[in-house]
Amino acid sequence: MADIVSRLHKNKVVSSSRKTSLRHYCVATMILRHQQSAKSVIDFTVEQWIAREEVSDGSCIHLTPKSALEQLSFTLSREEEEYFNVYFTMIRTDYLHKQAQETDDKGKFFLSASGAPLANPMADVKRLFQTYKHLQKQVQELHTCGESSTAASTEEHGTLTQEGTSIQAICASVFKLRYWDAFRDKFPVTVNGNAPTKQQATEAGFENYRSYYHKWRDVQYQLRLRYVLDQSVDRKGTKPQESKIQRIIDAQVDWTTNKPTVADVQQAWAPPVSTGHSIENDMSIIKSIVDQKWKGLAIKQFEIKGKGVITTMPFSKNDIICDYHGTVISKREGEEKMAALAPGEHSYNFFFRGKGGEPLCIDAQQFPCSCHQDKDCFGRRINHSRQFFNVHAQRFTMALPSGPAETILFLATRDIKLNEEILYDYGVTRKSFQGEGADLDWLDD
Ligand SMILES: [Zn+2]
Repeated sequence: MADIVSRLHKNKVVSSSRKTSLRHYCVATMILRHQQSAKSVIDFTVEQWIAREEVSDGSCIHLTPKSALEQLSFTLSREEEEYFNVYFTMIRTDYLHKQAQETDDKGKFFLSASGAPLANPMADVKRLFQTYKHLQKQVQELHTCGESSTAASTEEHGTLTQEGTSIQAICASVFKLRYWDAFRDKFPVTVNGNAPTKQQATEAGFENYRSYYHKWRDVQYQLRLRYVLDQSVDRKGTKPQESKIQRIIDAQVDWTTNKPTVADVQQAWAPPVSTGHSIENDMSIIKSIVDQKWKGLAIKQFEIKGKGVITTMPFSKNDIICDYHGTVISKREGEEKMAALAPGEHSYNFFFRGKGGEPLCIDAQQFPCSCHQDKDCFGRRINHSRQFFNVHAQRFTMALPSGPAETILFLATRDIKLNEEILYDYGVTRKSFQGEGADLDWLDD
């Protein structure tokens, strides 16, 4: 059965609807196999997913805090956990990337394709079974001998286990994405290289050569588009002339096939992103600061060091990750507040110099802050690492609706993968503005 279903999907790129069918599967798993209510599915958060607990036969997800009297939890098998993980790392991240600024995912695990919290989980279950029936029909049509009677009886008296098996087959085809990652690792896509031959792919253990081959070429095509663009765009970033693009394409003697077209290169061109000052007027950043809503982050409880911030989607170098939210006070006030801390109490003061060089401090000691009572703001939860930091802090005078505000934004110092902890080297700042520096509770791992 699995084989037939997977053959049905040969040579197809994984479409967004099929990705969504994996979400349907995960939702159905929670509701049908683990008897969770639709509300539990809606309420399930990324932080609960991250805090899942390794148990002997799988992974236990706690839907309520451990201290709650009646604890809600369920245990995913290893396989189910893997499906959830594929949804989380490949599909949910897609949704987040497409999410409109005004959409708030509220840190929920299950999102609709628009990036909003899932509203109707039962619709997902229904859709899964519709897909399943549809596929089954195709399977029957393709059947020339053998199992057709089994398939028919499954449809008639479909038990959950039988249907479950078929659903897994559907999912296996969705998972081609995962195998693509392995394929790409084995045969990296390069601008000038050639796709591996069928024999090479087979020897490396990959079946379905054609779909990998096409995907490999698609990715290379994108690389080549990018390459030609880089070569043809001037320093101002103006749209390149057709003739110039054509010259550059013609100059690539190694590109005998899979050549980008001039039209595609022009289409891939985007007007230059203005840098610097525009950050201070950027409406989406301003909104994130005001609402304390930063996409792609979650708070994780670490065993030794306590809370930290991890990514729930990948970021690129120089992306703005979040701000250090608090009240701007003078350096002197900040020092007084630090001196008043109880011994061993962690300090949440960020010392920096303002626009005119004046020594300032952002005080984030109070939790929750008076302006966002329901939020655990990310900035103050970022842990320190001198060695493994992946963000740096930069000061901006943000044009907030309430007036210009001295703001510290954390920017990625490199590409950051999904599920990495955000780490900042607090040492330099504390040393330079405080002399003594570290009252740090802990240092690098
Ligand atoms: Zn606040």
